[in-house]
Amino acid sequence: MSMLNIQEGRLPVRYLGLPLVASKPSFMDCKILVDKLLRRTFSWMSNSLSFGGRLQLLKSVLFSIQVFWCTTFILPAAVLKKCDSILRSFLWHGLGNTKRAGKVAWWKVCRPESVGGLGIKDSRTWNRAAIMKCAWDICNRKETVWTKWCNVVLLKDKFFWTAPIIGNCSWGWRNILASRKFMHRRILYEVKDGNTFSLWFDPWYQGETIASVFGQRVILDSGLPRAAKVSTVISENRWDWPLNSVNLLDISNTTSLIPLPAGCDAIHWLKKGSTFTIQEAWKAISPQSQDVPWFKVVWFPQRIPKHSFCVWLSFMQGHRTLDKLTRFGVVSSSACVFGCGQEESLDHLFFACPYTASIWNFFLAKYGFNRRCRGWNVEATWCIQRLQGNSHNIWLTKLTLAAVMYHCWVERNNRCFNNEYRNSDCLIQEISSVIECRCRGLAHVEMLGSRQACNSCDLDRWAFWQIPWDLVTLFPLLVCRV
Ligand SMILES: [Zn+2]
Repeated sequence: MSMLNIQEGRLPVRYLGLPLVASKPSFMDCKILVDKLLRRTFSWMSNSLSFGGRLQLLKSVLFSIQVFWCTTFILPAAVLKKCDSILRSFLWHGLGNTKRAGKVAWWKVCRPESVGGLGIKDSRTWNRAAIMKCAWDICNRKETVWTKWCNVVLLKDKFFWTAPIIGNCSWGWRNILASRKFMHRRILYEVKDGNTFSLWFDPWYQGETIASVFGQRVILDSGLPRAAKVSTVISENRWDWPLNSVNLLDISNTTSLIPLPAGCDAIHWLKKGSTFTIQEAWKAISPQSQDVPWFKVVWFPQRIPKHSFCVWLSFMQGHRTLDKLTRFGVVSSSACVFGCGQEESLDHLFFACPYTASIWNFFLAKYGFNRRCRGWNVEATWCIQRLQGNSHNIWLTKLTLAAVMYHCWVERNNRCFNNEYRNSDCLIQEISSVIECRCRGLAHVEMLGSRQACNSCDLDRWAFWQIPWDLVTLFPLLVCRV
């Protein structure tokens, strides 16, 4: 080394931005990840971002940093917990290091949108899905040095599905073997020529290995070697089992129902034809729950993210209204800031309060809904029943509902914290201009306008938004009527 003038290095070294360690990565080894996430949360102008903006940054930037690590390492639980806490703190407070609680429990946030969450993936489940990718590669004997090394050195004469977790195996290998219980019954072995699968130790037999269903005895009875492939019992494209015992007879009867198509053996994820992705694995191992009926009221195409976030918070009962704050002892009065003399609650604010009701009623009438709004409990049910789908009217009503809720909430905050007051006409004007801008900005409007049957009510609507004539001429149906 001295002759070549090379310096002796020490682990861990950085490689592709990651620490190269020979043993289980410690919290200190992963501190680079934690620091990187924290730095990002401080670098953005977080305080001026809306919840919708923060959610977008969290999903696209913060989570990507973490994904890179999660797909390379099995991260220690303390690191995953810390990552989650940074993401949570950033979403709710705009900074990565706040300990204050969020408005909605984190486990509820970390669920797909369709079941009421925000589609954020919690680190632990995502890391587990990423480990399953390693196991998937080993099962498929992917052509990489690593999978070959696993098969030759770690498994040797054993088989992946039945290899025991022994005391002195490495932490990484232990985790990969432990991931088998999450893959079991989700991985589908399809026998074709039988040249790849182990006869006794691969789960091609009704999702199980023959050794686990019938025990080792059946191998002795058959007189076939332990390392036999499934092709040993296939002859001229038909099953051909030695019938030396009752169990073998049983197996033979069951396998006679399994077809043997031409081609090479194949492994599928969940169902035939689909392959493994970490995203699909994450979905499969995430706790399953029922879809929420308001999913399409909140999340629809071309929405305004910060407005939709406000509606989502309402459905999740997450707004910190004065009735809640009084119960927690944070404030002494829960009187509605719009001066109606009643208590401020979610139900009152959207839209039992005369101030907010006048705004929403104005738009309801404009859109041809012959009804007067009530409190949130009634409005939420009405929205769920009436605002499904994305036809022109429904889309515009959903967009407006979200805008009205957002602006009413902002007005309420301005009155509470900044002593700024605007009347409902001002708010109606502002909401109209926001909706108009959204419509102007969308090529989508043209599509909506031309696809939907147009009536005088629609004309009135476009006139109301004061969309300029040159834009209106983009809609052939409108022009015909005019
Ligand atoms: Zn009120």
